[in-house]
Amino acid sequence: MNVKFALVGGERREPEPTLTGQCPGCGETVTAKCGTQRVWHWAHKGLRTCDPWWEPETEWHRRWKNLFPVSWQETVRRSETTGERHIADVQTPHGLVIEFQHSTITPAERVSREHFYRDMIWVVDGTLAKKDRPRIDKGLPDWRWQPENKYTAKFLVENFLPSFWVKCDVPVLFDFDGLLVGPSTERQNHLICLLPNRYREDQAVFFPMARSTLVGIANNETSIPDWREICRDLDANRMQVPTASNRLQVLYRR
Ligand SMILES: [Zn+2]
Repeated sequence: MNVKFALVGGERREPEPTLTGQCPGCGETVTAKCGTQRVWHWAHKGLRTCDPWWEPETEWHRRWKNLFPVSWQETVRRSETTGERHIADVQTPHGLVIEFQHSTITPAERVSREHFYRDMIWVVDGTLAKKDRPRIDKGLPDWRWQPENKYTAKFLVENFLPSFWVKCDVPVLFDFDGLLVGPSTERQNHLICLLPNRYREDQAVFFPMARSTLVGIANNETSIPDWREICRDLDANRMQVPTASNRLQVLYRR
């Protein structure tokens, strides 16, 4: 299990050659791995896994995590009731957890993680399965040109979004451009935000979201727009849903 931060002399540090430190999750000794094959990381001895939910970190994880303050990254969360501990990829000071998911997980693990963190958002690497990008390009050809926060309600979203992720109880942001994180390409590579509930029973509601908007949401103490409110708007306006600028005003304060 590899992490970006370990405690060295009580301080959170990134790996440097020859350093050893302590895992903030389990307290075990970890060794800095600073090679050329993989991103620099701290490794536990042997195959020890102190958090079964942790996945091997890739450049994709690191780029995403680095858009947030260091002190928010790899935050240890402990359940008051069971003592269970997990390391969240990013947790804002207001408790919103953002998990960046690159590899496949079981449905049971997905549900457990949503249940454990509750106030969380998934950011899913949509480039992992080769078929996912062609599916959205075909099933929703104009997805790239939709303005941010133009809400759409559709039946059978699993026809163009990865089916594993369409039944979550928390918002899911699909990242179909992978490593294209960064302001220069901002306009061309919005995320698709799928809200957890359904509009009129069975239509899924989703909208494009800029990467910077996600970072802004995390910084502004707000959460993803309240989906119940969005559905009320959809009903009241007969799908003429407000545009991004006024819509962003109703992000609910946490
Ligand atoms: Zn550990």
